[in-house]
Amino acid sequence: MSCFLGVCHPLRYTTGGDVAGEDDNAVENRIEQMRRAGVEWVLCDIPFPFDGAVGRASDAFCNFGALLQRWHRAGFKVLGVTPYPAGFEEGWSIDAGRPGGAKFLRIYEEACRFLAAEYAETVGAWVIGNQLNLERFRRPMTEDEAVELMKRGGSGVKRGSPDALAGINMFGSDRTARRMYLRLYPNDAVEFDYVGTNGFFGTYDPGGPDTWHEQLAVLKEMTGKPVIVLECGYPSRGEPMTDDERASGRTHHEYGKLPFMWREGHSPEEQAAYLERAFWILTGSPDVKGAFWFSWSDRPKCWNCGRPGCPAGTANGLVDLDEKPKPAYHAFGRVARGKFDLRALYPEEFAPARREAGEEDVALARRLLEAERLRGEVACLRRILVSRDARLERMRASLPFRLLRFLMRPLARLASRR
Ligand SMILES: [Zn+2]
Repeated sequence: MSCFLGVCHPLRYTTGGDVAGEDDNAVENRIEQMRRAGVEWVLCDIPFPFDGAVGRASDAFCNFGALLQRWHRAGFKVLGVTPYPAGFEEGWSIDAGRPGGAKFLRIYEEACRFLAAEYAETVGAWVIGNQLNLERFRRPMTEDEAVELMKRGGSGVKRGSPDALAGINMFGSDRTARRMYLRLYPNDAVEFDYVGTNGFFGTYDPGGPDTWHEQLAVLKEMTGKPVIVLECGYPSRGEPMTDDERASGRTHHEYGKLPFMWREGHSPEEQAAYLERAFWILTGSPDVKGAFWFSWSDRPKCWNCGRPGCPAGTANGLVDLDEKPKPAYHAFGRVARGKFDLRALYPEEFAPARREAGEEDVALARRLLEAERLRGEVACLRRILVSRDARLERMRASLPFRLLRFLMRPLARLASRR
């Protein structure tokens, strides 16, 4: 399989860079359990490296380095998230000036270069900031400043560790996300190696695992780069919101529900089926370099709203709070061994009446997957054509265009006389 498999946030570490309230045995057991599941990569947020002055390493940086060494010794590769600009308010003990200002960007670039160089042995890929299309993660910076930050951070990472992969990642594909992708692929400061994306189709967005076909085609069209899926997930519990609730303006966190659902809804069994179907598509795509499941374990409280019962932030894990494997853990293991349950993926197509004589299961499943992939590309191209049509219509109706047409009329008459 050319696509690597990983999990997000495998440890309950603190922003200080150490593991929160866990003894060595607990960490070792988890590492062993992850290895058994076939996890190859882990995705971690990396703390700000400096304390007091540029170049003076912080405790968080040193503690985190020890943690990374542990992953490295266990055979895992790490994709590191460079520090969130929003984190400067809490943890950067350095005068970096106004976020997004010239001094801030200079220090950020140097911090990224420093991290990439110092962690070169342990961190094989970097994402610059993360999900900066969301205001929550880029605040207090503007959209323009966040684009500049990703360019400068990417350039720092590539100077610090030229062999490490560098890219950026957006949450979903809202208008800001699309604008940022288009401004960064390509840009004048750094050539990114891959494009990152997150997808929770059937939970935070409509759709399901099959939505990936179109999403991958759109990313390829926008950036021309291989894709790493930094977060793909499906909680194992949670009621879907009603249409009225979605239209109310209140968030799913406030309702303690999830905006959308796929098939039968959110249950441990459906989570496992979702994972297998999503990874069947992702690992079978020639455009995908790697995919991370969000996340390794359930959480006691929602990372977003802090409520213990909120399904959005507590029920995404492959293992539960007691580290007990959920059905999705076993599905991940099957995927990692390449042993997909093909008849569960295509129950109708495998009915005897629909089989071509003598066709092997794997050949049939691959043929079906290829047909889906092509349908995704067609859907993407159709979307582009429709949006260009709409833009053309808007342009035709605009005042400058109408004025121009008015002024061109005498010229056109002159031309036709000749
Ligand atoms: Zn929540």
